[in-house]
Amino acid sequence: MASAQDVVEKAREADLRLVRFLWCGNDGTVRAKASAVGGLEGRIESGIGLTVAMQAMNGLDHLQPVEGMGPVGEIRLVPDPETFRVLPYAPRTGGMLVDLMQLSGEPAPQCPRSFLKRMATRLEERAGVLEVAFENEFSLARVEDGAFVPVDSSLCFSTIGLTASQEYVDALVDALERQEIGLEQYYAELGHGQQELSTAHAPAVRAADEQVLVRETIRGVASGFGLVASLAPKPWPENAGNGGHIHFSLWKDGKNVFHDPAAEDGLSATARSFVAGILRHLPGLCGLTAPSFNSYHRIVPQYWAGAFTCWGHDNREAPVRVPSLFWGSEEASTNVELKAADASCNPYLAVGGLIAAGLDGLERELEPPEPVEVDPATIPEDERARRRIYRLPATQERALDALYDDDVLTVAFGPTLSTSYLAVRRSEWEAYSAGDETFEQQGHFSKY
Ligand code: GLU
Ligand code: MG
Repeated sequence: MASAQDVVEKAREADLRLVRFLWCGNDGTVRAKASAVGGLEGRIESGIGLTVAMQAMNGLDHLQPVEGMGPVGEIRLVPDPETFRVLPYAPRTGGMLVDLMQLSGEPAPQCPRSFLKRMATRLEERAGVLEVAFENEFSLARVEDGAFVPVDSSLCFSTIGLTASQEYVDALVDALERQEIGLEQYYAELGHGQQELSTAHAPAVRAADEQVLVRETIRGVASGFGLVASLAPKPWPENAGNGGHIHFSLWKDGKNVFHDPAAEDGLSATARSFVAGILRHLPGLCGLTAPSFNSYHRIVPQYWAGAFTCWGHDNREAPVRVPSLFWGSEEASTNVELKAADASCNPYLAVGGLIAAGLDGLERELEPPEPVEVDPATIPEDERARRRIYRLPATQERALDALYDDDVLTVAFGPTLSTSYLAVRRSEWEAYSAGDETFEQQGHFSKY
């Protein structure tokens, strides 16, 4: 286990001046306060002070009226020394992910990272460790006369797209390597300027920490090239959406509990119950995994984001997709993908919610419905209704209502986290639904 002293030593070795204490808001924004290297050890131990109001702040920096989150009161940003990295895209700067702690030294009830730790522990006690990997799509743009213009107009997986961004991507991969974040694949995807990056899986909390670092790195490296990288779910109304797909599998004693070699699709009864739990809670879960106003311009039928409550094998129109296995590593490659997710989410809340939903499936030994092996939009409406295939929430407002109505998710959150989260995200709905397309784009493009 790394200590405060280890971090100070590393910071001095790397000749750092500042170390960012990073956290993610209820609005999905990554925020930070930085400590000077002098005094760093003390700040690691007792945290940096933060107004208690901060988790009531929305994505427009409008503070929402939430009881106990006003001008009076303080929490502490207490970093986890294990997460320390030198940040390659910021001069002489390091970073660490934090827990939000009360002055008593207990985790604050609104702390997203502590919520995920609680969920990971509950799951571990029952079934094992959730390994999670994020697959981020994002858009690379230049700013011309105040407008975001994609860096290329290349075709899907086209090498012309690869060439257009190759200097940036080389620097991006280098920055990830230096932070010891494992890269799996990179390519230029369907939309103009669209890139996709998949990173290695890790236990839930570390995966969420790394998702914050990856988002920071994607944007930070772009900024060094005078570009803007955006992980907004629908960066341009007429262009492909950016998914932040979440892959997951469950491990115990070195074995993938999701894997059953005897099953035709390789999925164990445990995996099926976990999937059933996710499907049962999917509308409310969307309020966490695809939580922004802009998210619902992405989750529409026939855009490969998954718009109906269903699961399927290699089905890219199913929000819950079971990918086919890799030859020779069948057990290791058994996993499930949640496609109804994007990088405007707070990854701790999204993965914690996913665990709560999956756990409900395990605890109640739920069975998933028949998988859907066609595009669900092509199934006649009456058949869809008979098979209980429903349209996922079509707006942020609907998704938040479904979250509010989902007792499993809100009880897992606890009252402080639920109330502040819903207040923040609902206020964004109020603001953006009253505005126009330009306001929506400005409000998401350079914030995620
Ligand atoms: N861009 C699609 C999305 O919004 C995903 C395309 C793919 O399957 O990679 O999720
Ligand atoms: Mg993709």
